[in-house]
Amino acid sequence: MLRTHTCGALRAEHIDQEVSLCGWVDVNRDHGGGIFIDLRDRYGVTQVVFGPESGASLLEEAARLRAEDVVRIWGRVARRPEGQDNDKLATGEIEVRSHRLEVLNRSERPPFTPRQRDLPNEDLRLRYRYLDLRRREMQDTLILRSRIIKLMRDYCAENGFIDVETPILGRSTPEGARDYLVPSRVHHGHFYALPQSPQLYKQIMMIAGYDRYIQVARCFRDEDLRADRQPEFTQLDLEMSFCDADDVMGMIDGLMARLAKEILGLELKLPLPRMTYQEAMERFGHDAPDLRFGMEIVDCTDLAKQAEFRVFRATAEEGGRVRGINAKGAAEKYSRRLLDELTEYVKHDFGAKGLAWFRVEPDGKLWSPTSKNFSDGLLAQFGERLGAEPGDLLLLSADSFDVTCKVLNGLRRRLGAELQLYDPQTMHFSWVVDFPMFERDVEENRWAAKHHPFTAPKPEDLQYLDSDPERARAVAYDLVVNGSEAGGGTIRIHDNEVQQRVFRLLGIDDATARERFGFLLDALKFGAPPHGGIALGIDRVVMLFGRLDNIRDCIAFPKTQKASDLMTEAPGTVDCKQLRELGIGIIREDER
Ligand code: ASP
Repeated sequence: MLRTHTCGALRAEHIDQEVSLCGWVDVNRDHGGGIFIDLRDRYGVTQVVFGPESGASLLEEAARLRAEDVVRIWGRVARRPEGQDNDKLATGEIEVRSHRLEVLNRSERPPFTPRQRDLPNEDLRLRYRYLDLRRREMQDTLILRSRIIKLMRDYCAENGFIDVETPILGRSTPEGARDYLVPSRVHHGHFYALPQSPQLYKQIMMIAGYDRYIQVARCFRDEDLRADRQPEFTQLDLEMSFCDADDVMGMIDGLMARLAKEILGLELKLPLPRMTYQEAMERFGHDAPDLRFGMEIVDCTDLAKQAEFRVFRATAEEGGRVRGINAKGAAEKYSRRLLDELTEYVKHDFGAKGLAWFRVEPDGKLWSPTSKNFSDGLLAQFGERLGAEPGDLLLLSADSFDVTCKVLNGLRRRLGAELQLYDPQTMHFSWVVDFPMFERDVEENRWAAKHHPFTAPKPEDLQYLDSDPERARAVAYDLVVNGSEAGGGTIRIHDNEVQQRVFRLLGIDDATARERFGFLLDALKFGAPPHGGIALGIDRVVMLFGRLDNIRDCIAFPKTQKASDLMTEAPGTVDCKQLRELGIGIIREDER
């Protein structure tokens, strides 16, 4: 090695030793009598001093060092002068008095430095990712990520899982997103699809008798990106045979307990709590409810039926729902202007028609501009239903069940944060189970799989598959951490007949099923064990355990919202020769 120690290694016990260090110049200070360099690498920072005893030419050379130059220095470890210890640094008791310096690489003036406090804008950080990755926070996160993945692998290995790589160039597996396609040069006009997940391969591994599979798998989905999504992301993909949903959830319970203990020093109580999908939607309006705080949704549809207030009554009579939440003690915190803002928010973001609100007055009565449309008795019943006490703010949504879910979930999350109803340091883990098998794709007027088409229905709901698909529940489970989905999985269909029925229901006719999934349908005929699994979003898990709020900060080389890599400038154009070889022509943007 070009060094004897890293920049984080030296302590008082090394005093008087001759050492050499390599690293980046974090900062260079000229203190009259000497040049002080903070030398940095990923292990830490060490103070290097060039004093009068270093000699004039060395002093001059040291004075020329600039931020981000890469240097190698030789020197003797010394105790820092009285009163100059830096207890924020692990190396803060010592400094290295240098007698030799070699510049390994000069840095141009960087657009930003890793040590500057205010972060530059994210585009600049992504363009100069190597500078950004030098920042301590980024290094901590990537080290955390590496620890988490190692803990996952170790835990799975201890439990008999074997790590198998599956192809990146493959056939489309439907997880409900658009595929990234790769044209084949050899098979003109044919395309590989990058895996949206290794779903079918892992099922095939079960049929092949491997019993327990894992993979830290890269997945690709060409979706319009939301803030916390990436077009390529990493999953802990897991599958096991001869198991039921409890076994898979139990396995992940153990993994979460291990991670929580090792990473955060938290003792999780197992089994993690579970709630059905139906209950989650009723109580929280969302299938990944944030359970760090209460403010549960309360149904008032029966009361709304008796109201003079037309919006409530009509909604209730026409099969809609009137539901509300109680923001305890928040009446004073939300002025008319803020309430107007909340109303705009639910209209704009969730297509709500409006938002009804009531303040609970000191005498316990409900007041709002619309309260005159309610009898005192009925208002009192609303208040009682919602647990109203003086000073509370009640927010009600009258709409379809779906819209009330969206509105109240949105309000609940927003108010939960604004009113600081939970400590952002707490972690809450739970399961949501028994999702519906199907959801209606309104645009295409057909059923779509809520999870994916290989998900098994609950045995008792098989009967509804043809008669009432909406009623059929799946053996599906999502892991929810702090109100976001950290993973999801299902028990799979291992019966060829049932698989074909589900395909038909999803509008995949026999010929198409054969064409796309013939290998699976065949495999299911050659001895398929019952099996199931799950995938955990590793980027998301790192974000949650690192208590970060930007998923891109958890990935070394992430893409922007527009799916580009600003550092390499991918995607890029290719030359005509490559296109010709692939037999591909580009349609001009204005001709598409
Ligand atoms: N393949 C699924 C997904 O990526 C996970 C699973 O069902 O195991 O969401």
